[in-house]
Amino acid sequence: MPSPAAVRRFQRRLLGWYARHGRDLPWRRTRVPYRVLVSEIMLQQTQVDRVIPKYREFLRRYPTLRALAAAEVEQVRALWYPLGYNVRPVRLHAIARETMARYRGRLPDSADALRALPGIGRYTAGAVLSFAFGRDVAVLDTNVRRVLTRVFLGPRRTARLRGERRLWDLAETLVPAGRAYDFNQALMDFGATWCTPRRPRCPACPMRGFCATYPAA
Ligand code: SF4
Repeated sequence: MPSPAAVRRFQRRLLGWYARHGRDLPWRRTRVPYRVLVSEIMLQQTQVDRVIPKYREFLRRYPTLRALAAAEVEQVRALWYPLGYNVRPVRLHAIARETMARYRGRLPDSADALRALPGIGRYTAGAVLSFAFGRDVAVLDTNVRRVLTRVFLGPRRTARLRGERRLWDLAETLVPAGRAYDFNQALMDFGATWCTPRRPRCPACPMRGFCATYPAA
């Protein structure tokens, strides 16, 4: 695990980067748990550019979790269809119905309760908890995994230490108290637009002074 000083340095650099380069995305203008959940499930395996218009269309048609629960699942699938991976609307619809039945239409604000809902794993639960409920919990998706591996583990140690639990532990260690929302959004943006798989922007990167992969990424 990185030292407390290294953790603070990473937090500071990342949040500074986000203040300059963070994207303005429609789901960052809401803290409504249902809307956050819709965006997170749409973003699984679909690019942001394709998600934005469908996210808006979906919420016009189903503006609340109650409205979604009342719909027929085939209608929900049909609206979702162009995004692909069509098990996702089925799960989202099932989440809406189960939330209506068990929680009176309010998504629960605990990790265990969220993860007991259909198709919600640790990542999605963390995203809902930090983006909608302001909890200091980590997220670990493909982009975040790549950033943390490159910055803290480096190419030689990667294979040995890449274990999922270790990366989750690292991600949890890095979340700054009270800043999980911005920090997690920043990490995901940084991985998606800057520390990308094939063409990371190392020469101009604020992490390059301590990145374990620089300059070899
Ligand atoms: S220096 Fe390169 S590999 Fe390291 S975090 Fe920055 S962009 Fe990613």
